[in-house]
Amino acid sequence: MVSFKRDNNPGFLDMHVKYLKRLLNEVPIDAIEVDDMYDYVGLASCGCKYCRERFKRDYNREIPSFDDNFFWGDTSKPMLYWGNYDNPAFRNFIRIKSESVANHVKLVKSTAGKIPLQTCSSSTGPIVLNTISLNLERMSPYLDFFMLENVGQNGNGVNWVPKDQ
Ligand SMILES: [Zn+2]
Repeated sequence: MVSFKRDNNPGFLDMHVKYLKRLLNEVPIDAIEVDDMYDYVGLASCGCKYCRERFKRDYNREIPSFDDNFFWGDTSKPMLYWGNYDNPAFRNFIRIKSESVANHVKLVKSTAGKIPLQTCSSSTGPIVLNTISLNLERMSPYLDFFMLENVGQNGNGVNWVPKDQ
């Protein structure tokens, strides 16, 4: 039996497990891809009670108000550029968000069992991806495959060096 920290919305996770079990029971599938395992809205979420409880439990910290620039950085910029990485509390917040996604992938893998599990992402390198909790390294222990979908939508997709900064 695999145990999980219920750090995301437990109702949502319960729904996803029930859906997967139904899918596996009713459809003869060879493999599963769970796509887009990250927070689309990034740092604009999540301040729900479950995330607040986890931040308190794991780091003894509170999610500060949005006007705390020492935590949130310059929020006049687009969301991908928010955050004060010099602040350990902010780095802890980034960590719990990516761990939450990884725990979700772990839950999916425990439900899928031996059926191969894959995810993919549209990009993997830029540090701004921390803001949307896209961290394939954290998810990788629970995946059989992942596709590095570094294609982008134009010729810049083959310009690798800036992708790693
Ligand atoms: Zn939350």
